[in-house]
Amino acid sequence: MDEARWICQRFAMVSPDTSTPPTDRRSEPRPVKPIGFTGSHLDRAGNPRRKPEWLAAQRARQDARFLLLRELKALVTITRKPAAIRWLDLAWADAHAALPCIFLGLDENDIPHFALDGDAAGGDDSVAGMHTETDKFIDVRSIAALLIPEEAAILAQARSVIDWHQRHRFCAQCGSQTEMAEAGYTRRCIGETCKAAHFPRTDPVVIMLAVHYDEKTGAEKVLLGRQGRMPPGMYSALAGFMEPGESIEEAVRREIMEESGVITGAVRYLVSQPWPFPSSLMIGCIAEALDDRITVDQDELEDAQWFTREQAMAMLERGKQRLAPTDPPPADNPQNEPWMPPPLSLAHQIAKRWLAGD
Ligand SMILES: [Zn+2]
Repeated sequence: MDEARWICQRFAMVSPDTSTPPTDRRSEPRPVKPIGFTGSHLDRAGNPRRKPEWLAAQRARQDARFLLLRELKALVTITRKPAAIRWLDLAWADAHAALPCIFLGLDENDIPHFALDGDAAGGDDSVAGMHTETDKFIDVRSIAALLIPEEAAILAQARSVIDWHQRHRFCAQCGSQTEMAEAGYTRRCIGETCKAAHFPRTDPVVIMLAVHYDEKTGAEKVLLGRQGRMPPGMYSALAGFMEPGESIEEAVRREIMEESGVITGAVRYLVSQPWPFPSSLMIGCIAEALDDRITVDQDELEDAQWFTREQAMAMLERGKQRLAPTDPPPADNPQNEPWMPPPLSLAHQIAKRWLAGD
């Protein structure tokens, strides 16, 4: 893991911050890194990709590149530093022409990139055989922190779209089969009288910090909670799916009230993150707590507590020691002092921004 951390630290130093412009509240630039799963360099070419002739020409290009997924795991070369997507060439794709092919986008040199669903009919032992000593099918969440941010973002796009195709083979209106259309961003019902079009779904999730300001002392504290299924010692931002007919602000206030009993007022948006497991959009917010009385909903949370800025800062530092929440406690935290999720998570990023004065 030391090597993996080195990779992360290295990229934390050199990657451009595409999400937050500097403000005069900071005396010097903060360490910068795009939010996990954002920052793809591909142009999705949303208009031309709808034209079958344009798409066919891209698919036939000699320099086209293909990302292969199997059981929603992506083929990655793990012996490189950093790890890298193992792009396959046109010859491989043509030899497996039956695999569903999703257009990902064009890079800076107009080279087309695609994703192939290795689980579909047409996948065979040769798909499984791509898993070797150096190239492996790896869970996207596990490998994300070891890739350059641009490639992690591409995996998020590919995994979400392929997962959606796998789970939407039939029309929700009439039950007939559906088929892929528009480069993978639509499914059309084949029912003669229906022909409904279906589009990939994104499920919005609010994730937020309730912050309480004590007018007498000027001290701020932040509300964090933990679910019983979380690794020992981990506390995170509260979060929940938005419901139909609800604004972001309303969802934030409702979720905080349901899970912790804390009443909140003003809500402000900070930053968002695609979370491709399978297709969430995490919407990061800060909510002003109007009181600090906590009543934990034991069905949702095991515990919720207020933490001071200093405590939250220490918890973020402890979280940086892990690439994934499931990592064992690092050597410098054997007692599992409270810690927050690692930098890949939006909880980490919104806490970091709050501590920086955003
Ligand atoms: Zn239908």
